[in-house]
Amino acid sequence: MTRMLIIGPPGSGKGTQAERISERLGVVAISTGDIFRANVKGETPLGIEAKKYMDAGDFVPDSVTNNMVRDRLGQSDVENGFLLDGYPRTTAQVDYLDQILAEGEQELDVVLQLTADDEELVTRLLGRAKETGRSDDNEAVIRHRLDLYHEQTEAVVAKYAERGILTQVDGIGGIDEVTDRVLTAIESAKAV
Ligand code: AMP
Repeated sequence: MTRMLIIGPPGSGKGTQAERISERLGVVAISTGDIFRANVKGETPLGIEAKKYMDAGDFVPDSVTNNMVRDRLGQSDVENGFLLDGYPRTTAQVDYLDQILAEGEQELDVVLQLTADDEELVTRLLGRAKETGRSDDNEAVIRHRLDLYHEQTEAVVAKYAERGILTQVDGIGGIDEVTDRVLTAIESAKAV
């Protein structure tokens, strides 16, 4: 049973690594970005609301995001643990997640941060933009998403560091190499 978060700047490969960790540890990976994208594709009311923020590289408001996460964490497949990818991104979301977990008498085991240099990330994301045509992958929007990460999400990382559950992994390198680092880091964090 593992309950964990993966945090990293846009382009750090957190989605890819989250899928691999989820397979290896047998816990469900929940990506708020993926849930939003599925809703945008399905043109649901949630998707229509989220799209305007996503296209601009802004955060979807906490009121929308928090409720979505609460619903998702209430489903039965998370009983054996979960890996949250892309949430929380603001300190208000940290407080909200604390509340949800406290209500279920649950705690996080590990918070994993993937680190990478901004210029490397911009290069990677511009490459991804060509391949996938993601509407939030143009240079101005990419730089805005990186700024938000530094302004808002690094404070989230600092909170978990204070609690002693943060483990950091260098996200630069081949996908397999990073997965090996990540799995080793999780095992040693859980052993503490
Ligand atoms: P991601 O795939 O994690 O990079 O997320 C893509 C986009 O979805 C972000 O740029 C935000 O617009 C939105 N999003 C995902 N997670 C959150 C969150 N925790 N809070 C606010 N917006 C989010």
